[in-house]
Amino acid sequence: STMLEVNGLNHRYGGGEGAHVAVNDLSFTVETGQLACIVGPSGCGKSTLLRCISGLITPTGGEVKLHGDKVDGVPEDLAVVFQDYSRSLFPWLSVRQNVEFPLRWKKMSRAERKERALEALEWVGLPGVSNKYPWQLSGGMQQRVSIARALARRPALLLMDEPFASVDAQTRFDLEDLLRQVQLRNGSTILLVTHDIDESVYLGDRVLVLSKSPASIVADLPVDLPPE
Ligand code: ADP
Ligand code: ADP
Repeated sequence: STMLEVNGLNHRYGGGEGAHVAVNDLSFTVETGQLACIVGPSGCGKSTLLRCISGLITPTGGEVKLHGDKVDGVPEDLAVVFQDYSRSLFPWLSVRQNVEFPLRWKKMSRAERKERALEALEWVGLPGVSNKYPWQLSGGMQQRVSIARALARRPALLLMDEPFASVDAQTRFDLEDLLRQVQLRNGSTILLVTHDIDESVYLGDRVLVLSKSPASIVADLPVDLPPE
C-alpha cells in the first residue's frame, strides 16, 4: 500500500520581488516498507520538502497525504531524526528518559513505556547505557539514541534529514548498516534525505534524485540490492 503521497508540491518563501521558490511541482509516492532516499545538492530544497511532509510548514501549493489523509499540522504517527543530534537530546534526562519522552503523550503505562524504550535502545545497539546522560556518550552514540527515540514511537513514517552527516566515517557505516537491519526487521517505512549519492545508493531501495534549486525530480531509480 502507499504510505506517502506527494502531489504537485510547491513551496515559495516570501512574496513579491523577494520570493524564492524552494520546491517546484514535486510528485512522488513512497510505498509501505520502503526505504526511499532523496538525494540532491545542498540548498536544492530537501529540508523544505521534509518540513512540508512533517507538517511544520504549509506548502504554498499541492498536497501531502500520509496513508491517504491530507497532512495538516504535525501528524502523530510520524517521527523525524535530524542531523544535529547534539541539540536534539535533553541533557538533563537520562538516555532512557530521552527515549521515553515522546511516549508520554501516548496512552501507555509506565512499565510499557520503559519496555519500549529499552527495546528501541537494543535495536540501535545500545543496551546498557540507559541510565547514562547524553553528554557521557560519543556523538555517534547520541545519534543512536535519537534514532531509538524515533523508533520507540513506532511511527508509520520515519523521516531522516541528513542523519549521518555529523558523525565520523566509521560511525556512519555502522549506523547505515544498523538502519538497514532495523528497516528489514521492523518493516519500517523510511524517507531519508542526503546530499551523499553513495549513501543514497548504499541505503535506499529507491533513490529520488533532485535537481538544483528549486527542487524537482530528475530521476527515480530502483536499487537492486544483492541478497544478504
Ligand atoms: P537543502 O535542505 O536542500 O539544503 P533547503 O530546503 O534548506 O535546502 O533550502 C532551499 C532553498 O530555500 C535555499 O535557497 C534556501 O536559502 C531557501 N530557504 C530555506 N529556508 C528558508 C526560509 N525560512 N526563508 C527563506 N528562504 C529559505
Ligand atoms: P565489508 O566489511 O563487508 O567490506 P563494510 O561494512 O565495510 O562491508 O561496507 C560495505 C560496503 O559498502 C563497503 O565496500 C563500503 O565501502 C561500501 N560503501 C560505499 N559507499 C558507502 C557509503 N556511503 N556508506 C556505506 N557504505 C558504503
